[in-house]
Amino acid sequence: MTTLEDLNDADRGRFVEQVAGLYDGAVWLAERAAQRRPYRSPAHLKHTLAELVRNAEADARMSLLKQHRPAPATDDATPEHAQRLQHLAADYLTRFGHAIVVAPGPRGTPLSATELIAECERRLDDHADVERDECLRQLHRIAELRLNRLLGTEPELGNVVWNWAEHLAQHSDPGHAEQGQLTVTYLTDAHRACAQRLSHWMRQHCGFDEVGIDAVGNVVGVYHGSDPDAPRLLTGSHYDTVRNGGKYDGRLGILVPMACVRELHRAGRRLPFGLEVVGFAEEEGQRYKATFLGSGALVGQFDEAWLDQADADGITMRQAMQHAGLCIDDIPKLRRDPSRYLGFVEVHIEQGPVLNEIDLPLGVVTSINGSVRYLGEIAGTASHAGTTPMDRRRDAAAAVAELVLVGTVGMLEVPSGSINVVPGRCRFSLDLRATTNEARDELTRDVLAALASICERRGVRCKVEETMRADAAPSAPPWQRRWERAVDAAGLPVHRLPSGAGHDAMKLHELMPQAMLFVRGEHAGISHNPLESTTSDDMQLAVDAFAHLLQQVAHNDEQTT
Ligand SMILES: [Zn+2]
Repeated sequence: MTTLEDLNDADRGRFVEQVAGLYDGAVWLAERAAQRRPYRSPAHLKHTLAELVRNAEADARMSLLKQHRPAPATDDATPEHAQRLQHLAADYLTRFGHAIVVAPGPRGTPLSATELIAECERRLDDHADVERDECLRQLHRIAELRLNRLLGTEPELGNVVWNWAEHLAQHSDPGHAEQGQLTVTYLTDAHRACAQRLSHWMRQHCGFDEVGIDAVGNVVGVYHGSDPDAPRLLTGSHYDTVRNGGKYDGRLGILVPMACVRELHRAGRRLPFGLEVVGFAEEEGQRYKATFLGSGALVGQFDEAWLDQADADGITMRQAMQHAGLCIDDIPKLRRDPSRYLGFVEVHIEQGPVLNEIDLPLGVVTSINGSVRYLGEIAGTASHAGTTPMDRRRDAAAAVAELVLVGTVGMLEVPSGSINVVPGRCRFSLDLRATTNEARDELTRDVLAALASICERRGVRCKVEETMRADAAPSAPPWQRRWERAVDAAGLPVHRLPSGAGHDAMKLHELMPQAMLFVRGEHAGISHNPLESTTSDDMQLAVDAFAHLLQQVAHNDEQTT
């Protein structure tokens, strides 16, 4: 068996032979990697290899794709499957000039024939640049699995988390379950089954001391510290999903700390502080117009008016809560006393392309962006498409089209428009986000000024109405630093990034210091989509980082008491 030290100490020829083998004999890559020794961890080596490829000459990158030898077809392929795959492979080669690279699934197990076919079909539609980058990433994943084999390592805790996420994903709301879609909305049968499963695992598999479901449906597990009265570290994320969502959004942030507690319990270890892991019942606002319901309840922000809202079937939130056996009267008691907590940390899948693009499994969040939303309407002049020259139009939609270049216009509508009429009215939405409230307000001023000058120049009038304003939640520096040290301890460069999406941490921010860790998503980080994915290797690194953070807090506490 080979160890990382062996690779670090090996003579150049031996290193090159071993490492080139990870990429189908890419000697040039291995030679460059040899100069970057010593490697602090397998993750460091994997990242460096990916970085060397990213910075290599275009033809060197292409040579990697051309020399890749695809794995033989899967065992379960019928003759029809095999024929279809052959066809797809030929189409792909014609279109992109290199063979498709498909790595095994997130746990390192081969894809089934139908999964493989779906993957090839989906990727045939991609842009050539996107596809070349995706193939290189799949090569890195194959190299990762080969390196694991070479070093005789398995991401054991990553596999535990992966298994849990798969199990949890078996529960889905009616109408979606039948189509193989994952949808878990507030207090449905599938939602309550998830809560039961999480509680069961916390109690039976992880050794939490106290496990319960609170008045809004949050699953709360506590692993006592050596002093049960010591302030606790709070962590967690949400287990509800969007419609036809992914398996990791939210859930990763419950399962990763659970794996850490499982290890502490197995080793019979107590930290000097308690760890409270919360699976938040609701974050996505899918069944009712109430987002962050779970984490909001912990900061005393449950809005009583929500109780009378009805879902699409006319069931009020109050009825749903009563049906689930939740005690509405106890909700105000859920507010946490900040003096009893050290802070809040949250692990979350990135839900964006940044980490994937720079081949980094983990990233440290600097701030959850603040945001502001508007609904607006522009009034121009509806006129005859044939008789109004371009330079004499007062086109309302053209004005909004210009606005699209400076802010997110997700909704754009020409009310009762016609094919032969210049748009006289255009309704639109505007969503602006920035890392601090000051930056958000400055951005808002700039964008609204840009809108005013567009309207002035085009001779149209505009009304906007603010519909939402949310504060930014910058990470607390000491907690952000702990995540940074944990990432560094994994041998990885520390990459800091803001969170463009809202998270439960931004609610807890109102009561206590908080900081988040992001985990890379596969498929260019796609999320709120069934393709959302992360590998068990990345999940292992997240568990290791969380354990490292716990050790740091334990250490500080030992030094100060
Ligand atoms: Zn989420």
